[in-house]
Amino acid sequence: MIIVSACLAGIKCNWEGKSKPCQKVLELVRDGKAVTVCPEQLGGLGTPRIPAEQIDGKVITKEGRDVTSEFNKGALLALNVALNNRCDKSILKSKSPSCGCDLVYDGSFSGKLIEGDGVFTKLLKEKGIEVISEKEL
Ligand code: SF4
Repeated sequence: MIIVSACLAGIKCNWEGKSKPCQKVLELVRDGKAVTVCPEQLGGLGTPRIPAEQIDGKVITKEGRDVTSEFNKGALLALNVALNNRCDKSILKSKSPSCGCDLVYDGSFSGKLIEGDGVFTKLLKEKGIEVISEKEL
C-alpha cells in the first residue's frame, strides 16, 4: 500500500482550499492501492488556512503564529495511518512544509526553496518508508 498526500488525490485540503490532482495518484487511489492523508488537517488546522513555512525548526504562519505543535501532531497521526496500512512507499506533494521532499520553502514566504523535508516526510523517512514527490512519477 502507498500513502499519498490527499491534495494529490483531488481532495480540496490545501491552504487555499484547493486540490493539486495528479493523474497517477488518482489512479492508485481508484484502484485501491493508495490511502490518502492530509497531515495539516489531521493536526487540527482549518481549510483554507494561512500558509506556513518552516524556519529554525519551527513552523510559522505568514501572520507569525507558531503552528509547530499542530504540524507535529498531524504528522504523527498521518504516520499512524501509514503504519496501520503497512505502507512502504509514499507519494507526497512537493515543497509543502508537511509533505515536501528534499526541497521546501525557506521561511521567508518569498517562494525561495532550500534543501529539506516537510514535517511528515521527515517522520516517514525515519521509519524507513520511501518518499517521492509527484514530480518524480
Ligand atoms: Fe496536501 Fe500535505 Fe498540504 Fe495536506 S499537508 S494540503 S496533503 S501538501
